[in-house]
Amino acid sequence: MRHPVVMGNWKLNGSKEMVSGLIKGLDAALNGVEGVDVAIAPPVMYLDLAEQLLSKANSKANSKANSKANSKANSKANSKIILGSQNVDLHNNGAFTGDISPAMLKEFGASHIIIGHSERREYHNESDEFVAKKFAFLKENGLTPVLCIGESEAQNEAGETVAVCARQIDAVINTQGVEALNGAIIAYEPIWAIGTGKAATADDAQRIHAAIRAHIAEKSEEVAKNVVIQYGGSVKPENAAAYFAQPDIDGALVGGAALDAESFAAIAKAAAEAKN
Ligand code: PEP
Repeated sequence: MRHPVVMGNWKLNGSKEMVSGLIKGLDAALNGVEGVDVAIAPPVMYLDLAEQLLSKANSKANSKANSKANSKANSKANSKIILGSQNVDLHNNGAFTGDISPAMLKEFGASHIIIGHSERREYHNESDEFVAKKFAFLKENGLTPVLCIGESEAQNEAGETVAVCARQIDAVINTQGVEALNGAIIAYEPIWAIGTGKAATADDAQRIHAAIRAHIAEKSEEVAKNVVIQYGGSVKPENAAAYFAQPDIDGALVGGAALDAESFAAIAKAAAEAKN
């Protein structure tokens, strides 16, 4: 069975004060939320601070879970907050000014790494092939790729959504085999819905998620059945439950609403409630 994953992409937002306030707020707001993996991807500058704050918060969650487990043998632990990041380079060291390696991300406790976000594809000219190389390098280094795919508004209007998503996934499948998707996360994010407030309807998102899963199933039904596919694009507490009620939507990649502890926690709770 697939486990839901709700991840916050903080993009280029943050300060020491904001990071610390948001993590503390999330820790409090997520108290008692079980059955969903919750991850955050702050800017890399703040990974060190986030790691320190999360290790405090998570050890508190662990000791609560242990005392709960002592009183009830099969009680589930509270969800811990997983640390992620927004990008990665294709090398672990060397003359690559300004880049960040998987080894560095790992050293700071980041495990879930967003790649192929439409903002990177657009502003940094990242191609499907380049993103697929990042995917392979993350896996080689034992990290979880969160592979963003999705179509532009023009592609959507031209009826090309599924073909675009298939092409973006095929860049991975054709170079690494469909099994490479095991343990990875796919985030379907229609570009026109990102940061616009113009979210896809839950029915439309479900239709595309099902088509993405069917495309993967052409290569392996087992991989398709197990791969987590998140929806991303203007997810808010008000619309989250409708997405998570869909059978092929396994969580969300959240931008704007992830910058507010209560909103992000409400989205995570909606996933936990719908999927358990
Ligand atoms: C994103 O940047 O991945 C995203 C989905 O942003 P928003 O939730 O703000 O649309």
